[in-house]
Amino acid sequence: MITRQTFLKLALGASLLAGLAVPEALAATGDLIGVAMPTKSSQRWIDDGNNIVKLLAAKGYKPDLQYADDDIPNQLAQIENMLTKGAKVLVVASIDGTTLSDVLSKAKDAGVKVIAYDRLIKGTPNVDFYATFDNFQVGVQQASSIVEALGLKEGRGPFNIELFGGSPDDNNAYFFYDGALSVLQPYIDAKKLVVRSGQTGMDKVSTLRWDPATAQARMDNLLSAYYGSAKLDAVLSPYDGISIGIISSLKGVGYGSGSLKMPVVSGQDAELQSIKSIIAGEQYSTVFKDTRELAKVTVAMIDAIETGKQPEVNDSKTYNNGKKVVPAYLLKPVVVTKANWKPALVDTGYYTLDQLK
Ligand code: BGC
Repeated sequence: MITRQTFLKLALGASLLAGLAVPEALAATGDLIGVAMPTKSSQRWIDDGNNIVKLLAAKGYKPDLQYADDDIPNQLAQIENMLTKGAKVLVVASIDGTTLSDVLSKAKDAGVKVIAYDRLIKGTPNVDFYATFDNFQVGVQQASSIVEALGLKEGRGPFNIELFGGSPDDNNAYFFYDGALSVLQPYIDAKKLVVRSGQTGMDKVSTLRWDPATAQARMDNLLSAYYGSAKLDAVLSPYDGISIGIISSLKGVGYGSGSLKMPVVSGQDAELQSIKSIIAGEQYSTVFKDTRELAKVTVAMIDAIETGKQPEVNDSKTYNNGKKVVPAYLLKPVVVTKANWKPALVDTGYYTLDQLK
């Protein structure tokens, strides 16, 4: 049987021999591309999905976009279903990066290529490419914004800080935490930053499924156990949704009003509500990861796979998933504060001014 790729190569060869341009119809394949997203509870994943669908459709592919409500069996069933329907490439932003081995071995058997989207898929050789941001750098930026806001480089301090991590089943969460600690640890060692709760390390500070309510409850507990009289100055938060939970807990005990200054709180994803909070002087920073660019990189990978070319990657060493180092394309994150939200988010067309009012 002639595979589609072989056919394309033959057709391409014949066209070149005949001195003809490659027929446009070959690019618009109508092939089904499965796009599995984790949840609609955060705007970024909705934008990711929409951006990918738009670009795929423009290239003549048939996207099958599914959201799994952060439910692992649900995501597995959706991916199985994509394979049954004959998807040629799978794009997967996993809920739990370690649960997909079985379904991906079926994908492998069917000759379907797999792109891990934003989150690494672990414990399987059957993941071909990884499109993401420089996740370690995200953590560095979160922590650097805290260092800057507190004036630690200028020798100020000591300050009290508490640390929050992302979901322990998401590989990214460890990269964010490690990146952040690479910046914060020297100040902790020098006692310029003090974690009064003593809770450090992902085993103690993670937040299952990135859930804002879980973070809020933990912040409530920390405040009542360790900050009865002491004042909290900063909170490392890995994601805007978590920051919202943290900030509402802080407000609950009076931070941000009267003489009790709101601690410096970081974040990630430049979610609308958090940008409004930054403009209002509550959340201090976020990390903007342009989902339009991630969609572009991903669709370029799909297009390369579909036309028998080699997808472009720029990192072949960082993302070892336990079975292989997955070739990755890493985009650059951008830190956003009150000082640059406009050039970073409005001038680039990510949001309109009206959305931020
Ligand atoms: C993503 C972040 C996001 C988090 C929660 C991570 O895997 O990289 O951008 O904030 O999941 O949705």
